[in-house]
Amino acid sequence: MKRVVSLMLSLLLICCSCGKTNEATEQFFSMDTVMTMKADGQNAADALLLAKQKIYELEGLFSVTREDSEIYALNRDGRAELSYDTQKIIERALEMKDMTGGAFDIMLRPVSKLWGFTEGTPRIPGKDELYAAVQKYKSSTLTVSGSAAICSGEIDLGGIAKGYAASCVRDILTQNGVESAVVSLGGNVMLRGARKDGSPWQVGIAHPKKKDELIGVLQAEDCAVVTSGGYERSFEQNGVTYHHIIDPETGYPSQSGIISATVVAADDTMADALSTALFVMGKERAESLWRTVGGFEMILITDSEIIVTDGLDFSPQDNAFSVCKLEK
Ligand code: ADP
Ligand code: MG
Repeated sequence: MKRVVSLMLSLLLICCSCGKTNEATEQFFSMDTVMTMKADGQNAADALLLAKQKIYELEGLFSVTREDSEIYALNRDGRAELSYDTQKIIERALEMKDMTGGAFDIMLRPVSKLWGFTEGTPRIPGKDELYAAVQKYKSSTLTVSGSAAICSGEIDLGGIAKGYAASCVRDILTQNGVESAVVSLGGNVMLRGARKDGSPWQVGIAHPKKKDELIGVLQAEDCAVVTSGGYERSFEQNGVTYHHIIDPETGYPSQSGIISATVVAADDTMADALSTALFVMGKERAESLWRTVGGFEMILITDSEIIVTDGLDFSPQDNAFSVCKLEK
């Protein structure tokens, strides 16, 4: 519950109150996080209800721990019939693995399972079991052909599910003619259009070192803003902090020097997977991906520095960090 409250506070969405007419809100718990949705428009209330139902439906398909989910069946049986959404999210996840040179990989489950974050029982795995899990992960294969999936390892959609859910919410809002909305699915923010008065949304970026504070505020509209931070789920043992974003190369929590990675992109699914990946890749690889492949903007935070790409309107709020602006 403490984590729920801190998540609510950590990603503070600042928005001025708009006129009362046609404004709808929803708040609920799904995909292991608090979700809040606020929309304005004639069909806003209906659209948000549909969006909430869709998220519950996706959670039922994608959950790695719920025994009735499609992913659970695939991990248990090595094969499963997949519904449209599960096929689609796996397809997107494989694209993101390619784009990030393997830094984002849903097949990491044998390794992440040992760390126990998703199960709520985090622990440091033994060296031998971790080595075996990394070997299992590295040799595992996944084939999806139509609705039939065959997997020799195990899958975890935790780094991309909320982004995919956000993209479905965006579609539902569009279909229902809702042109102004802000949705926060844990660290995943989906901005639809601008605020009702036409001004941009203001999204507070959580301070990775100071609980319940912001490191800065981003102005943006009609895009996804997704932050991955090691501070979100972590534990400390013998003075060492272990967090939930794993480096596929080592099987250990990534130590790239980045303590928070925010991605801003038009594509909600890409933004989610990419924020996890950039956290693992570190600043040099992240910068090179931004320059060569592009399609996104980013804010990377290290112990002493905030690195911001030039397509963003970001106002830092902590002078202790130097700011480095990347220009194309
Ligand atoms: P959160 O879900 O806390 O918002 P992320 O989107 O960064 O954070 O996703 C982290 C989750 O993704 C982990 O809890 C785990 O389930 C999974 N994961 C961890 N490391 C990786 C990785 N390198 N590639 C893909 N998924 C990962
Ligand atoms: Mg992610």
